[in-house]
Amino acid sequence: MNTLSQTAIDNDKRYCWHPFTQQQDWCAPENNPLMIARGHGCWLWDTEGNKYLDGNSSIWTNIHGHCHPVISQAIKNQLDIIAHSSFLGFGHPLAGELAAKLVSLFPPRTLERVFFSDDGSTAMEVALKLSLQYRIQQKDPAQHKRCHFIAMDNCYHGDTLGAASLGGVSTFFEKFQGVGHLCHHVADLNTLFALPQEHLDTVSALVIEPLVQGVNQIHLWSKGMLSTLRQWTQEHGIHLILDEVMTGFGRTGTLFACMQESITPDFLCCAKGLTGGYTPLAATLCTREIYEGFLGTHEEQKTFYYGHSFTAHPLGCAAALASLRLFEETPLLSALPSKALYARNALQRLADKHPHIYEIRQIGLVIGIDIRQPDGTHFPEKERIGTQICDHARQAGLLTRPILDTIVLMPPLCITETEIDHCITALDYALTTQFS
Ligand SMILES: *Cc1c(COP(=O)(O)O)cnc(C)c1O
Repeated sequence: MNTLSQTAIDNDKRYCWHPFTQQQDWCAPENNPLMIARGHGCWLWDTEGNKYLDGNSSIWTNIHGHCHPVISQAIKNQLDIIAHSSFLGFGHPLAGELAAKLVSLFPPRTLERVFFSDDGSTAMEVALKLSLQYRIQQKDPAQHKRCHFIAMDNCYHGDTLGAASLGGVSTFFEKFQGVGHLCHHVADLNTLFALPQEHLDTVSALVIEPLVQGVNQIHLWSKGMLSTLRQWTQEHGIHLILDEVMTGFGRTGTLFACMQESITPDFLCCAKGLTGGYTPLAATLCTREIYEGFLGTHEEQKTFYYGHSFTAHPLGCAAALASLRLFEETPLLSALPSKALYARNALQRLADKHPHIYEIRQIGLVIGIDIRQPDGTHFPEKERIGTQICDHARQAGLLTRPILDTIVLMPPLCITETEIDHCITALDYALTTQFS
Protein backbone atom coordinates (compact mmCIF):
# COMPACT_ATOMS: atom_id res chain seq x y z
CA MET A 1 0.00 0.00 0.00
CA ASN A 2 1.40 3.43 -0.90
CA THR A 3 1.92 6.16 1.70
CA LEU A 4 -1.00 8.26 0.44
CA SER A 5 -3.38 5.35 1.06
CA GLN A 6 -1.79 4.52 4.39
CA THR A 7 -2.02 8.09 5.69
CA ALA A 8 -5.58 8.50 4.45
CA ILE A 9 -6.72 5.28 6.11
CA ASP A 10 -4.82 6.01 9.35
CA ASN A 11 -6.40 9.46 9.67
CA ASP A 12 -9.79 8.15 8.74
CA LYS A 13 -9.77 5.26 11.19
CA ARG A 14 -8.41 7.48 13.93
CA TYR A 15 -10.66 10.56 13.54
CA CYS A 16 -13.64 10.05 11.24
CA TRP A 17 -17.08 8.64 11.95
CA HIS A 18 -18.92 7.28 8.92
CA PRO A 19 -22.66 7.37 8.17
CA PHE A 20 -24.71 4.19 8.65
CA THR A 21 -21.50 2.40 9.64
CA GLN A 22 -20.52 0.23 12.59
CA GLN A 23 -17.22 1.89 13.38
CA GLN A 24 -15.95 -1.20 15.20
CA ASP A 25 -16.03 -3.12 11.91
CA TRP A 26 -14.78 -0.17 9.88
CA CYS A 27 -11.76 0.38 12.14
CA ALA A 28 -10.89 -3.31 12.45
CA PRO A 29 -7.34 -4.01 11.20
CA GLU A 30 -8.60 -6.40 8.52
CA ASN A 31 -10.91 -3.76 7.01
CA ASN A 32 -9.24 -2.12 4.07
CA PRO A 33 -11.51 0.77 3.07
CA LEU A 34 -11.09 2.42 -0.30
CA MET A 35 -9.98 6.02 -0.26
CA ILE A 36 -11.33 7.66 -3.41
CA ALA A 37 -8.75 9.95 -4.96
CA ARG A 38 -10.45 11.24 -8.09
CA GLY A 39 -13.15 10.70 -10.68
CA HIS A 40 -13.86 11.19 -14.35
CA GLY A 41 -17.09 10.36 -16.19
CA CYS A 42 -18.56 7.19 -14.68
CA TRP A 43 -15.21 6.20 -13.17
CA LEU A 44 -13.54 6.56 -9.80
CA TRP A 45 -9.88 5.98 -8.91
CA ASP A 46 -8.68 5.02 -5.43
CA THR A 47 -5.45 6.23 -3.82
CA GLU A 48 -3.72 3.06 -5.12
CA GLY A 49 -4.56 4.01 -8.70
CA ASN A 50 -7.22 1.29 -9.15
CA LYS A 51 -10.15 2.21 -11.38
CA TYR A 52 -13.80 1.43 -10.66
CA LEU A 53 -17.13 2.13 -12.28
CA ASP A 54 -19.24 4.28 -9.96
CA GLY A 55 -22.15 1.83 -9.86
CA ASN A 56 -24.30 3.78 -7.42
CA SER A 57 -23.57 7.28 -8.74
CA SER A 58 -21.73 8.20 -5.51
CA ILE A 59 -24.75 7.36 -3.38
CA TRP A 60 -27.41 8.20 -6.00
CA THR A 61 -26.26 11.75 -6.70
CA ASN A 62 -24.21 11.86 -9.90
CA ILE A 63 -25.97 12.43 -13.23
CA HIS A 64 -23.57 13.57 -15.97
CA GLY A 65 -20.40 11.91 -14.69
CA HIS A 66 -17.56 13.26 -12.56
CA CYS A 67 -15.51 16.28 -13.60
CA HIS A 68 -17.86 17.16 -16.42
CA PRO A 69 -16.20 20.21 -18.01
CA VAL A 70 -19.45 22.22 -18.20
CA ILE A 71 -20.41 21.76 -14.54
CA SER A 72 -16.86 22.09 -13.25
CA GLN A 73 -16.38 25.31 -15.24
CA ALA A 74 -19.67 26.76 -14.00
CA ILE A 75 -18.57 26.20 -10.39
CA LYS A 76 -15.10 27.62 -11.06
CA ASN A 77 -16.57 30.72 -12.70
CA GLN A 78 -18.88 31.32 -9.77
CA LEU A 79 -16.02 30.77 -7.33
CA ASP A 80 -14.19 33.74 -8.83
CA ILE A 81 -17.33 35.88 -8.47
CA ILE A 82 -18.35 34.90 -4.95
CA ALA A 83 -18.59 31.55 -3.17
CA HIS A 84 -21.37 32.40 -0.76
CA SER A 85 -23.57 35.26 0.32
CA SER A 86 -26.63 35.31 2.54
CA PHE A 87 -30.07 34.47 1.21
CA LEU A 88 -31.54 35.88 4.41
CA GLY A 89 -32.08 39.54 3.66
CA PHE A 90 -30.52 39.38 0.17
CA GLY A 91 -30.94 37.48 -3.05
CA HIS A 92 -28.53 36.67 -5.83
CA PRO A 93 -28.96 36.33 -9.59
CA LEU A 94 -28.37 32.57 -9.85
CA ALA A 95 -31.02 31.62 -7.26
CA GLY A 96 -33.76 33.43 -9.14
CA GLU A 97 -32.62 32.00 -12.44
CA LEU A 98 -32.56 28.48 -11.01
CA ALA A 99 -35.95 28.84 -9.32
CA ALA A 100 -37.48 30.07 -12.60
CA LYS A 101 -35.91 27.16 -14.44
CA LEU A 102 -37.20 24.59 -11.92
CA VAL A 103 -40.72 26.00 -12.07
CA SER A 104 -40.59 25.92 -15.89
CA LEU A 105 -40.02 22.15 -15.82
CA PHE A 106 -43.63 21.64 -14.63
CA PRO A 107 -46.95 22.53 -16.27
CA PRO A 108 -48.05 26.18 -15.82
CA ARG A 109 -49.87 27.03 -12.58
CA THR A 110 -48.79 23.85 -10.76
CA LEU A 111 -45.54 24.18 -8.80
CA GLU A 112 -44.79 27.89 -8.73
CA ARG A 113 -42.49 28.64 -5.76
CA VAL A 114 -39.11 27.30 -4.75
CA PHE A 115 -37.71 27.17 -1.20
CA PHE A 116 -34.00 26.27 -1.21
CA SER A 117 -32.17 24.24 1.42
CA ASP A 118 -29.17 21.95 1.62
CA ASP A 119 -30.00 18.27 1.15
CA GLY A 120 -32.80 15.77 0.83
CA SER A 121 -33.62 15.68 4.51
CA THR A 122 -33.92 19.45 4.79
CA ALA A 123 -35.99 19.62 1.60
CA MET A 124 -38.38 17.23 3.35
CA GLU A 125 -38.32 19.21 6.62
CA VAL A 126 -39.34 22.29 4.66
CA ALA A 127 -42.29 20.53 3.01
CA LEU A 128 -43.49 19.03 6.29
CA LYS A 129 -43.29 22.31 8.19
CA LEU A 130 -44.89 24.28 5.36
CA SER A 131 -47.79 21.83 5.25
CA LEU A 132 -48.37 22.02 9.03
CA GLN A 133 -48.00 25.79 9.28
CA TYR A 134 -50.28 26.30 6.29
CA ARG A 135 -53.07 24.44 8.14
CA ILE A 136 -52.75 26.57 11.28
CA GLN A 137 -52.99 29.73 9.21
CA GLN A 138 -56.26 28.82 7.51
CA LYS A 139 -59.48 30.50 8.73
CA ASP A 140 -61.49 27.27 8.79
CA PRO A 141 -61.03 25.72 12.28
CA ALA A 142 -61.41 22.22 10.81
CA GLN A 143 -58.03 22.82 9.14
CA HIS A 144 -56.34 23.34 12.50
CA LYS A 145 -56.92 19.70 13.43
CA ARG A 146 -54.76 18.59 10.52
CA CYS A 147 -51.45 17.88 12.28
CA HIS A 148 -50.71 14.26 11.27
CA PHE A 149 -48.89 12.76 8.33
CA ILE A 150 -49.38 9.55 6.40
CA ALA A 151 -46.36 7.77 4.98
CA MET A 152 -45.79 4.38 3.38
CA ASP A 153 -44.38 1.31 5.12
CA ASN A 154 -40.60 1.00 4.68
CA CYS A 155 -40.29 4.49 3.24
CA TYR A 156 -37.17 6.63 3.62
CA HIS A 157 -37.22 10.40 3.69
CA GLY A 158 -33.91 11.36 5.34
CA ASP A 159 -32.20 11.39 8.70
CA THR A 160 -32.92 14.71 10.38
CA LEU A 161 -35.36 14.17 13.22
CA GLY A 162 -38.50 15.39 11.45
CA ALA A 163 -37.80 13.57 8.19
CA ALA A 164 -36.67 10.45 10.06
CA SER A 165 -39.87 10.35 12.10
CA LEU A 166 -41.76 9.71 8.85
CA GLY A 167 -39.37 6.93 7.87
CA GLY A 168 -40.80 3.44 7.77
CA VAL A 169 -37.55 1.51 8.16
CA SER A 170 -37.78 0.58 11.84
CA THR A 171 -34.03 -0.03 12.30
CA PHE A 172 -33.38 3.64 11.57
CA PHE A 173 -35.92 5.09 13.99
CA GLU A 174 -36.74 2.62 16.75
CA LYS A 175 -34.33 4.33 19.17
CA PHE A 176 -36.09 7.68 18.69
CA GLN A 177 -39.70 6.67 19.23
CA GLY A 178 -41.83 9.42 20.71
CA VAL A 179 -40.05 12.33 19.06
CA GLY A 180 -40.78 13.90 15.72
CA HIS A 181 -43.97 14.16 13.72
CA LEU A 182 -47.20 12.25 14.26
CA CYS A 183 -47.23 9.79 11.43
CA HIS A 184 -49.35 6.83 10.42
CA HIS A 185 -47.84 4.25 8.08
CA VAL A 186 -49.79 2.31 5.48
CA ALA A 187 -48.66 -0.63 3.32
CA ASP A 188 -50.71 0.12 0.23
CA LEU A 189 -53.67 1.97 -1.23
CA ASN A 190 -56.25 -0.46 0.15
CA THR A 191 -55.05 0.10 3.72
CA LEU A 192 -55.06 3.82 3.05
CA PHE A 193 -58.60 3.83 1.67
CA ALA A 194 -59.79 1.88 4.73
CA LEU A 195 -58.65 4.55 7.21
CA PRO A 196 -61.60 6.03 9.11
CA GLN A 197 -62.78 9.51 8.14
CA GLU A 198 -62.11 10.83 11.70
CA HIS A 199 -58.46 9.98 11.20
CA LEU A 200 -58.29 11.45 7.69
CA ASP A 201 -59.69 14.71 9.06
CA THR A 202 -56.51 15.04 11.18
CA VAL A 203 -54.08 14.49 8.29
CA SER A 204 -52.11 17.39 6.86
CA ALA A 205 -50.16 15.56 4.16
CA LEU A 206 -49.36 12.22 2.63
CA VAL A 207 -45.70 11.67 1.81
CA ILE A 208 -44.40 9.23 -0.78
CA GLU A 209 -41.39 8.38 -2.90
CA PRO A 210 -43.06 8.31 -6.35
CA LEU A 211 -42.82 5.15 -8.50
CA VAL A 212 -40.02 3.53 -6.49
CA GLN A 213 -38.83 3.31 -2.89
CA GLY A 214 -35.04 3.32 -3.14
CA VAL A 215 -33.98 2.39 0.37
CA ASN A 216 -36.71 -0.26 0.55
CA GLN A 217 -34.62 -2.50 -1.72
CA ILE A 218 -35.81 -0.77 -4.92
CA HIS A 219 -39.50 -1.50 -4.33
CA LEU A 220 -41.61 -0.52 -7.33
CA TRP A 221 -45.14 0.84 -6.93
CA SER A 222 -47.68 -0.44 -9.39
CA LYS A 223 -48.52 1.57 -12.48
CA GLY A 224 -51.30 4.09 -11.90
CA MET A 225 -50.81 4.11 -8.13
CA LEU A 226 -49.48 7.65 -8.10
CA SER A 227 -52.28 9.16 -10.13
CA THR A 228 -54.85 7.34 -7.97
CA LEU A 229 -53.13 8.80 -4.94
CA ARG A 230 -53.18 12.28 -6.40
CA GLN A 231 -56.90 12.07 -6.97
CA TRP A 232 -57.58 10.61 -3.51
CA THR A 233 -55.52 13.23 -1.65
CA GLN A 234 -57.34 15.97 -3.56
CA GLU A 235 -60.73 14.51 -2.68
CA HIS A 236 -59.77 14.36 1.01
CA GLY A 237 -58.14 17.79 1.28
CA ILE A 238 -54.78 16.20 2.09
CA HIS A 239 -51.54 17.64 0.71
CA LEU A 240 -49.44 15.35 -1.45
CA ILE A 241 -45.70 15.64 -0.78
CA LEU A 242 -43.53 13.88 -3.35
CA ASP A 243 -40.04 12.96 -2.26
CA GLU A 244 -38.19 13.07 -5.58
CA VAL A 245 -34.81 13.30 -3.83
CA MET A 246 -33.64 10.08 -5.47
CA THR A 247 -36.00 9.90 -8.48
CA GLY A 248 -35.50 13.48 -9.66
CA PHE A 249 -33.44 14.50 -12.69
CA GLY A 250 -33.86 11.56 -14.99
CA ARG A 251 -33.13 8.64 -12.71
CA THR A 252 -36.38 6.78 -13.53
CA GLY A 253 -36.29 7.64 -17.24
CA THR A 254 -38.20 10.93 -17.14
CA LEU A 255 -36.95 14.21 -15.70
CA PHE A 256 -39.17 13.63 -12.64
CA ALA A 257 -40.94 10.42 -11.67
CA CYS A 258 -44.33 12.15 -11.33
CA MET A 259 -44.21 12.96 -15.05
CA GLN A 260 -44.77 9.26 -15.85
CA GLU A 261 -48.26 9.55 -14.40
CA SER A 262 -48.89 13.11 -15.56
CA ILE A 263 -49.55 14.46 -12.10
CA THR A 264 -48.10 17.22 -9.96
CA PRO A 265 -48.09 17.30 -6.15
CA ASP A 266 -48.64 20.13 -3.68
CA PHE A 267 -44.98 19.86 -2.66
CA LEU A 268 -42.06 18.34 -4.54
CA CYS A 269 -38.68 17.82 -2.87
CA CYS A 270 -35.46 17.42 -4.82
CA ALA A 271 -31.81 17.30 -3.83
CA LYS A 272 -29.30 14.56 -4.74
CA GLY A 273 -29.18 15.05 -8.54
CA LEU A 274 -30.15 18.73 -8.53
CA THR A 275 -26.55 19.91 -8.93
CA GLY A 276 -25.66 16.90 -11.09
CA GLY A 277 -24.43 15.50 -7.79
CA TYR A 278 -21.61 18.06 -7.48
CA THR A 279 -22.48 20.07 -4.35
CA PRO A 280 -25.17 19.93 -1.68
CA LEU A 281 -28.27 21.90 -2.67
CA ALA A 282 -31.95 21.10 -2.31
CA ALA A 283 -35.24 22.62 -3.35
CA THR A 284 -38.82 22.27 -2.14
CA LEU A 285 -41.30 23.34 -4.80
CA CYS A 286 -44.87 24.19 -3.86
CA THR A 287 -48.10 25.52 -5.33
CA ARG A 288 -49.30 29.10 -5.35
CA GLU A 289 -52.10 28.12 -2.95
CA ILE A 290 -49.60 27.01 -0.30
CA TYR A 291 -47.45 30.09 -0.87
CA GLU A 292 -50.38 32.48 -0.56
CA GLY A 293 -51.34 30.87 2.75
CA PHE A 294 -48.21 32.50 4.19
CA LEU A 295 -48.86 36.05 2.97
CA GLY A 296 -49.96 38.73 5.42
CA THR A 297 -48.70 41.67 7.44
CA HIS A 298 -45.78 41.15 9.80
CA GLU A 299 -48.19 41.28 12.75
CA GLU A 300 -50.24 38.40 11.37
CA GLN A 301 -47.22 36.16 12.06
CA LYS A 302 -47.58 34.07 8.94
CA THR A 303 -43.86 34.21 8.15
CA PHE A 304 -42.14 30.90 7.52
CA TYR A 305 -39.41 31.05 10.17
CA TYR A 306 -37.07 28.56 8.63
CA GLY A 307 -33.69 28.67 6.89
CA HIS A 308 -30.13 27.45 6.86
CA SER A 309 -26.86 29.36 6.73
CA PHE A 310 -26.14 28.12 3.23
CA THR A 311 -29.65 28.45 1.76
CA ALA A 312 -29.49 28.82 -2.06
CA HIS A 313 -25.71 28.42 -2.04
CA PRO A 314 -24.36 30.15 -5.18
CA LEU A 315 -21.91 27.36 -6.09
CA GLY A 316 -24.77 24.85 -5.91
CA CYS A 317 -27.03 27.09 -8.00
CA ALA A 318 -24.27 27.44 -10.61
CA ALA A 319 -23.83 23.66 -10.74
CA ALA A 320 -27.60 23.06 -10.94
CA LEU A 321 -28.04 25.53 -13.80
CA ALA A 322 -25.17 23.90 -15.67
CA SER A 323 -26.66 20.45 -15.09
CA LEU A 324 -30.08 21.56 -16.35
CA ARG A 325 -28.43 23.15 -19.39
CA LEU A 326 -26.84 19.77 -20.15
CA PHE A 327 -30.28 18.17 -20.02
CA GLU A 328 -31.47 20.74 -22.57
CA GLU A 329 -28.45 20.65 -24.86
CA THR A 330 -27.56 16.96 -24.92
CA PRO A 331 -29.68 13.93 -25.86
CA LEU A 332 -29.21 12.47 -22.35
CA LEU A 333 -32.92 12.12 -21.53
CA SER A 334 -33.96 10.80 -24.93
CA ALA A 335 -31.18 8.19 -24.77
CA LEU A 336 -32.35 6.83 -21.42
CA PRO A 337 -35.04 4.37 -22.63
CA SER A 338 -32.59 2.54 -24.90
CA LYS A 339 -29.91 2.46 -22.15
CA ALA A 340 -32.43 1.11 -19.66
CA LEU A 341 -33.52 -1.55 -22.16
CA TYR A 342 -29.92 -2.46 -22.90
CA ALA A 343 -29.28 -2.93 -19.17
CA ARG A 344 -32.50 -4.92 -18.77
CA ASN A 345 -31.56 -7.38 -21.52
CA ALA A 346 -28.01 -7.78 -20.26
CA LEU A 347 -29.26 -8.37 -16.71
CA GLN A 348 -31.79 -10.90 -17.94
CA ARG A 349 -28.97 -12.89 -19.54
CA LEU A 350 -27.07 -12.68 -16.24
CA ALA A 351 -30.13 -13.94 -14.36
CA ASP A 352 -30.50 -16.84 -16.82
CA LYS A 353 -26.95 -17.87 -15.97
CA HIS A 354 -27.07 -17.38 -12.19
CA PRO A 355 -29.83 -19.18 -10.26
CA HIS A 356 -29.12 -17.01 -7.21
CA ILE A 357 -30.64 -13.99 -8.95
CA TYR A 358 -34.20 -14.23 -7.69
CA GLU A 359 -35.63 -11.07 -9.21
CA ILE A 360 -34.56 -7.90 -10.98
CA ARG A 361 -36.55 -4.74 -10.30
CA GLN A 362 -35.87 -1.83 -12.62
CA ILE A 363 -37.25 1.55 -13.53
CA GLY A 364 -35.09 3.68 -15.80
CA LEU A 365 -31.53 3.34 -14.51
CA VAL A 366 -32.65 2.42 -11.00
CA ILE A 367 -32.00 -1.30 -10.64
CA GLY A 368 -32.29 -3.75 -7.74
CA ILE A 369 -30.96 -7.29 -8.13
CA ASP A 370 -32.38 -9.62 -5.47
CA ILE A 371 -30.08 -12.42 -4.36
CA ARG A 372 -31.62 -15.52 -2.77
CA GLN A 373 -31.01 -19.24 -2.52
CA PRO A 374 -31.99 -21.03 -5.75
CA ASP A 375 -35.15 -22.31 -4.02
CA GLY A 376 -36.26 -18.71 -3.43
CA THR A 377 -35.58 -18.54 0.31
CA HIS A 378 -33.58 -15.67 1.77
CA PHE A 379 -30.04 -16.14 3.00
CA PRO A 380 -29.64 -15.67 6.77
CA GLU A 381 -29.08 -11.94 7.33
CA LYS A 382 -25.88 -12.50 9.28
CA GLU A 383 -24.19 -14.03 6.22
CA ARG A 384 -24.36 -10.60 4.60
CA ILE A 385 -24.37 -12.14 1.12
CA GLY A 386 -25.12 -8.77 -0.52
CA THR A 387 -22.05 -7.20 1.07
CA GLN A 388 -19.86 -10.14 0.07
CA ILE A 389 -21.02 -9.96 -3.53
CA CYS A 390 -20.33 -6.22 -3.68
CA ASP A 391 -16.85 -6.87 -2.27
CA HIS A 392 -16.20 -9.34 -5.11
CA ALA A 393 -17.59 -6.85 -7.64
CA ARG A 394 -15.11 -4.30 -6.31
CA GLN A 395 -12.28 -6.73 -7.21
CA ALA A 396 -13.65 -6.66 -10.74
CA GLY A 397 -13.82 -2.86 -10.93
CA LEU A 398 -17.41 -2.08 -9.94
CA LEU A 399 -18.34 -0.09 -6.85
CA THR A 400 -21.82 -0.36 -5.45
CA ARG A 401 -23.61 -1.10 -2.20
CA PRO A 402 -26.26 -3.66 -1.37
CA ILE A 403 -29.42 -3.03 0.63
CA LEU A 404 -29.61 -6.28 2.59
CA ASP A 405 -29.33 -8.87 -0.21
CA THR A 406 -30.42 -6.56 -2.99
CA ILE A 407 -27.52 -5.36 -5.14
CA VAL A 408 -28.29 -1.81 -6.22
CA LEU A 409 -27.15 -0.63 -9.62
CA MET A 410 -27.81 3.06 -10.20
CA PRO A 411 -25.04 4.37 -12.46
CA PRO A 412 -24.63 7.96 -13.66
CA LEU A 413 -27.09 8.60 -16.48
CA CYS A 414 -24.23 9.32 -18.90
CA ILE A 415 -23.18 5.64 -18.75
CA THR A 416 -22.49 4.04 -22.16
CA GLU A 417 -23.43 0.55 -23.35
CA THR A 418 -19.78 -0.50 -23.06
CA GLU A 419 -19.77 0.70 -19.45
CA ILE A 420 -23.02 -1.17 -18.77
CA ASP A 421 -21.25 -4.28 -20.13
CA HIS A 422 -18.43 -3.63 -17.66
CA CYS A 423 -20.96 -3.61 -14.77
CA ILE A 424 -22.49 -6.90 -15.96
CA THR A 425 -19.09 -8.56 -16.35
CA ALA A 426 -18.15 -7.47 -12.83
CA LEU A 427 -21.43 -8.79 -11.41
CA ASP A 428 -20.96 -12.05 -13.33
CA TYR A 429 -17.50 -12.41 -11.77
CA ALA A 430 -18.85 -11.53 -8.31
CA LEU A 431 -21.70 -14.07 -8.46
CA THR A 432 -19.43 -16.79 -9.88
CA THR A 433 -16.87 -16.16 -7.14
CA GLN A 434 -19.49 -16.12 -4.42
CA PHE A 435 -21.35 -19.26 -5.37
CA SER A 436 -18.78 -21.62 -6.90
C1 LIG B 1 -31.29 10.24 0.00
C2 LIG B 1 -32.73 10.42 0.21
C3 LIG B 1 -33.22 11.35 1.14
C4 LIG B 1 -32.31 12.14 2.05
O1 LIG B 1 -31.47 12.98 1.34
P1 LIG B 1 -30.11 13.51 2.02
O2 LIG B 1 -29.54 14.43 1.00
O3 LIG B 1 -29.27 12.28 2.25
O4 LIG B 1 -30.48 14.19 3.27
C5 LIG B 1 -34.58 11.52 1.24
N1 LIG B 1 -35.42 10.83 0.47
C6 LIG B 1 -35.00 9.93 -0.44
C7 LIG B 1 -36.01 9.21 -1.28
C8 LIG B 1 -33.65 9.68 -0.59
O5 LIG B 1 -33.21 8.76 -1.48
